[in-house]
Amino acid sequence: MNTDGIMDLDQKYYMNTFGKRIPVVFECGRGSTLYDKEGCSYTDFLAGIAVNSLGYAHPALVEAISSQAGRLIHCSSLFYIEPQAKLAEALIENSCFDRVFFGNSGAEAIEGAIKLARKYFKQKGLYKYEVLTNTNSFHGRTLAALTATGQPKYQKPYEPLPSGFRHIPYNDLEAAYEAVADTTCAIMIELIQGEGGVIEATAEYVEGIAKLCREKGLLLIFDEIQTGIGRTGKMFAYEHFGVEPDILTLAKGLGGGVPIGALLAKSHAAAFEPGDHGSTFGGNPLACSAALAVLKTLSDEDLIAKSAINGEYFKEKLIYLKSLFPFISDVRGKGLMLGIELNESVNGKTIVEECFKAGFIINCAGKNTLRFVPPLVITTTEIDALIETLELIFSRVKEAASCKI
Ligand SMILES: *Cc1c(COP(=O)(O)O)cnc(C)c1O
Repeated sequence: MNTDGIMDLDQKYYMNTFGKRIPVVFECGRGSTLYDKEGCSYTDFLAGIAVNSLGYAHPALVEAISSQAGRLIHCSSLFYIEPQAKLAEALIENSCFDRVFFGNSGAEAIEGAIKLARKYFKQKGLYKYEVLTNTNSFHGRTLAALTATGQPKYQKPYEPLPSGFRHIPYNDLEAAYEAVADTTCAIMIELIQGEGGVIEATAEYVEGIAKLCREKGLLLIFDEIQTGIGRTGKMFAYEHFGVEPDILTLAKGLGGGVPIGALLAKSHAAAFEPGDHGSTFGGNPLACSAALAVLKTLSDEDLIAKSAINGEYFKEKLIYLKSLFPFISDVRGKGLMLGIELNESVNGKTIVEECFKAGFIINCAGKNTLRFVPPLVITTTEIDALIETLELIFSRVKEAASCKI
């Protein structure tokens, strides 16, 4: 079937939640390169939104999935599962946590974190249920996760929303201190807001929120669904801050493209008891084998160190672009989670389209921020090629702007 035929089927049968998609159908990929139905190739700086950490068709991941699929895809967590137990061990041994639970997505991990925080206080006989999250945050699309998400545009169609959430401005410690109430059970933050436009938490904020949680006896939850698993140049972004939360959520990069989410907790916070929580598909042999292969490959190929080194290289080049083009107002991010904010004179979506035409996949997040979250196997040659293309596109934009004057 050709691209037009597929687009027609989509228009006719798929719920129109994505509006006009980018008019391309990818057929396959290798490394950080995607190939479409028409034979064009693209260097991918989006990685399925920070998901395809090993790029495409990585032999270790393909082998792990296919050999597991040939033996056992699913059997239910009513039974003990070898890849699940091994993945639990790998995550716990490489983090500051003691217990894990697996689901299938980021939102499901967030739901689990909220339930766990409520259960923790219920077990102590305390009526604490309210979770504080940040404005401009993103925590997923299920009803509770979207209520936690501090962006009204996602919430409006679904009111009335579940109770027990309040939003506090990001990087504003004083506001956090003022917001804590007797019923507050947890504060949940992203260390770098991803969908919000690659906005970094300050060290003072993260340390201050941790201190506030300690003082008031609240649970601290880090949503590392986007920042986790090597994305920022460390296994987990909390390592940059030297602050350990009680609860952590993971998803995106964990399965290298196979859906899996995880909820990690320190032993004191791992309050679930038999019957409290569950997930039919969560922690199935296939997804856990994929995630195990991802973790092993990150280590075998030293990809987390590469994420730090290549991320630094990439960021310097973006800073160089900023020095050339005054409409770039900011360069942000850590490791291979980077963004450049454009001022309102330039439409980020147009730049995304121009990059696409030139064979590069990027996207626009937050207000007007170009976001770069490539596979962790991206090379400096590929980074150089993107920078060259951006420089060309930006030069045209600058020229067009000066013509208008
Ligand atoms: C993507 C994302 C989510 C939601 O994950 P889904 O798998 O889409 O449910 C939650 N939190 C953060 C920080 C994310 O980036």
